[in-house]
Amino acid sequence: MAAVIIGRLLIAKLVFAAAILDRGSCEVDEDIIDLTHKYANTNMVTWPTHLKFNISVGFKGKTPSGVYYEAKRFCTSEHAGTHVDAPLHFYEHAQSVDEIPLKTMIGPGAVIDVSRKSEINRNYEVTVQDILDWEADYGRIPDGAVLLLNTGWHRRWPNEVDYLGTTPDENNPFKSDYSWPGLSEHAAQWLVDSRSISVYGVDCVGIDPGAASTFPVHKIFLSPEHEIPSLENVANLDAMPPTGTRIYAIPMNIRGGTGAPTRLFAVVNGAQRHLSVFELVAAVVLIATQCLF
Ligand SMILES: [Zn+2]
Repeated sequence: MAAVIIGRLLIAKLVFAAAILDRGSCEVDEDIIDLTHKYANTNMVTWPTHLKFNISVGFKGKTPSGVYYEAKRFCTSEHAGTHVDAPLHFYEHAQSVDEIPLKTMIGPGAVIDVSRKSEINRNYEVTVQDILDWEADYGRIPDGAVLLLNTGWHRRWPNEVDYLGTTPDENNPFKSDYSWPGLSEHAAQWLVDSRSISVYGVDCVGIDPGAASTFPVHKIFLSPEHEIPSLENVANLDAMPPTGTRIYAIPMNIRGGTGAPTRLFAVVNGAQRHLSVFELVAAVVLIATQCLF
């Protein structure tokens, strides 16, 4: 009898292991959240004086040997679409995008939602208290975090006037009536003094609030002292849980780049834990059922 029970336990264990392997194989498709806007000739918002993304056909058709072949070419500012700012963007001789270690660009996700406050006041500046309130609910921002601010602005993309708060003027990149929310200078300074984030990002055209004409947040995060690469025009933040993800921000490897288009996505690692608990319960039930007969 004991041998039969042990045998059935082994079978149940094998079934359980197979179930986990099966779940693992589909996790990649089910639990990735893409945080990147699409690059295209239309439906993008770019800082008014920056070169807009432009793509055209290089070759499309049959080769002399009759094989179909198509290739496009594109031209763009480093700072169009979802992209990262490197320290070189605001500090001469500072770290360029190709010099940022890839391990800096991967870390646990922390997403602070200030979209309701930003909806009421489109120039809202996030305070230290907002961050402490978030930590009271979700725990301390982990060291090495990719910290993202959800202002709700990604919902306004690609409505240029709504996104910028004014009609863009290509001859005046530093207009005084830009209007979008962001981190206050005090909160940015507090973050570098009191926490150890690896990357910062926001769903607006700049990491400074639109009204901040002296760019204090850029200067704090991108300083050679802190070297915190910063993401702009982050997409799809409403799909993100506040914690429980691992975020990958993978920029184009541009030598000497002040920034670069970046494929930004999150892997939801909380879901795998949930599935494992479910599978554990299923396995226990299976074992109990096997032992009854
Ligand atoms: Zn930029």
